[in-house]
Amino acid sequence: MLNRDKSTGRFISTDGCGRSQAERAIIAVRRRRVAKLYPERTPTEIGAELGWAKPTIDKDVAWLVEHGLVERQRPGPRRKYPEPEERKCAGCDRRFTPPSWAPDQRFHSIPCARANQTTDRVREVARRLKTEQRRRADAQIARLNEAGYLTSRQLAAERKVNEATVSQWIARGLLTAERCMIEGEPHQLIAREERDRFNREEWPRIVERMGPGYPANWGRLPRERWSGRKNRELAAAKGKKVGRRSDLDSAEVEEARELRARDWSNERIARHLTRLRSGPPGVSRHQIQRALGPRRKLRETPRP
Ligand SMILES: [Zn+2]
Repeated sequence: MLNRDKSTGRFISTDGCGRSQAERAIIAVRRRRVAKLYPERTPTEIGAELGWAKPTIDKDVAWLVEHGLVERQRPGPRRKYPEPEERKCAGCDRRFTPPSWAPDQRFHSIPCARANQTTDRVREVARRLKTEQRRRADAQIARLNEAGYLTSRQLAAERKVNEATVSQWIARGLLTAERCMIEGEPHQLIAREERDRFNREEWPRIVERMGPGYPANWGRLPRERWSGRKNRELAAAKGKKVGRRSDLDSAEVEEARELRARDWSNERIARHLTRLRSGPPGVSRHQIQRALGPRRKLRETPRP
């Protein structure tokens, strides 16, 4: 196997680095083939195809990367499908790019697919069934109301909070409720006496803990729901009071002005006015600032 010169004992036709010209040629050919296959195929696959061991292919890849001939593929499984291309929605002609996990998606959204894939007849039947179900549910809730029960949704509407909030009150034991199914949907029933007790005992404590402003974790919707700015048109049509209900009335402004004259801070005035109100919403220091303008601070330590 060893190719030595008989007379000198040295390797024949090597360059002194341990590889013959023939070996170098083979390596160069193999590296060219690896460079063509590499990013799409793994070293294991390339090795199986070319008939070399995986460590050999790994070394070739390392050499190719070092010489800038291929880019290192990140570890992990290869992408299963090609990157989806932008296309026209089959329902509404809008341009969209399907997600990588659904390259065959034809509609730009689920509502669009539903609107364009179902027939009129199917939609018609579904709508009728749903309407009937709602009517039956409403009738049953009306009967329960007459029997002295409220659903958690009704209590949530009364207290202008989310239904999930009522569920939390129930879970924390602030409110006692009874689970029941109405037309296949889970509801929680609250007896009217229990509602009155809650309003009397628990609600003031909840409001107090919330403070004069909105809780920091409230987003736009809870704030709008609370302040009556949500469904403004609907409420106006029903003849309810809408809009910002947290603005100060003239008596409160007068009171605030007096307290300001006594050099109370906006925050202290806001707390005071909140306490005077019978219920939420409270007054915030920003409202005091809006009503009275910026506060001129008295210097507490006289300058020498
Ligand atoms: Zn569409």
